[in-house]
Amino acid sequence: MKKIVTVVGARPQFIKAAMLSRQFKLLGVNELIIHTGQHFDANMSAIFFDEMEIPKPAYHLDIHSLPHGAMTGRMLEKIEKILQIEKPDAVLVYGDANSTLAGAMAGAKLNIPVIHVEAGLRTNNMSAPEEVNRVLTDRISNILFCPTTTAVDNLEKEGFNQLPVHIFNSGDVMKDASLYYGEKAQLKSDILRRIGVKKFILATIHRQENTDSPETLRNIIAGLNEIHKQIPVVVPLHPRTRQILAQQYSLPNFITIDPVGYLDMIMLMKKSELVITDSGGVQKEAFFFGKHCIILREQTEWIELVENGFSTLVGSNKEKMKEALEVFSRKTSDFSVELFGNGSASAMIAKEIINIL
Ligand code: UDP
Repeated sequence: MKKIVTVVGARPQFIKAAMLSRQFKLLGVNELIIHTGQHFDANMSAIFFDEMEIPKPAYHLDIHSLPHGAMTGRMLEKIEKILQIEKPDAVLVYGDANSTLAGAMAGAKLNIPVIHVEAGLRTNNMSAPEEVNRVLTDRISNILFCPTTTAVDNLEKEGFNQLPVHIFNSGDVMKDASLYYGEKAQLKSDILRRIGVKKFILATIHRQENTDSPETLRNIIAGLNEIHKQIPVVVPLHPRTRQILAQQYSLPNFITIDPVGYLDMIMLMKKSELVITDSGGVQKEAFFFGKHCIILREQTEWIELVENGFSTLVGSNKEKMKEALEVFSRKTSDFSVELFGNGSASAMIAKEIINIL
């Protein structure tokens, strides 16, 4: 029986792991999960394990609230010790968080094959911590699963086809998650009753590039406040954003709620008029649920959404936000094109991993 150690720590990684863990269970793979603790609030972590039925972590490292270097370093040290004890056939990491890089480095240093799910994504903005994590993780991975053809092309441009690694265009496990949990959300979520508004825009803000510059954050808050005068804006506030807002600004006018579980989040996306976000995952989910998306960033790793007119990049510019809203409120799009695979990415990934190991 193959043994895989999966390293997760941040909210989007729990969502991705939920789909692949289910496949591993079906195929008889022995998967052990390490939770680094990067996200630790109950509504940023435990709720996902419970409602998405993710296997309980075998190890919980409780590492959080540290600067990037200290956080990644401590994770690396602890994960290395666990890998020396567990001696898995591979280490599996997701996405672009510090937990991703720490897990990949721990595996690579011990010559344990590293599997990266969500490989090949690039914004080419190396000042963002996520881009650093992506580039470095890809370079030390042995099996790379790309969610899009753009991601495969990015790796080719960087010369990965000259390396002794396996590269697949698998489609996106988040597409699988949106289909699987989309049905459950319809049955189980009561968020729409709780927020009390019928017609609304859903927004999220949490990227460091937006939260760490007071001017940038002030512009975004001002833009959302103005839009809220036209149509209610609902924001499940990331704990970091809430903390920074409390320190620096008076409270926003729009509707803020605590972070919600995935099923509630799906219902909010499904029923929203449009989505405004700086999140990587939420940009795609807006598309999966047939909503246009205004991206509060200068670049995106999901460039096909912009190229095909489903989303637009506005940075933190208030006027551009309002213009985009105007354009999208008059636009209809066909969201049926399969930019991220057909929902079978996790089955394909699990099968390929077993074939290779
Ligand atoms: N999400 C959630 N509840 C929330 C906000 C986001 O379940 O209150 C989900 C969202 O649907 C997406 C994932 O968390 O699947 C995105 O995580 P985040 O925005 O933190 O990270 P990113 O995708 O930018 O790395």
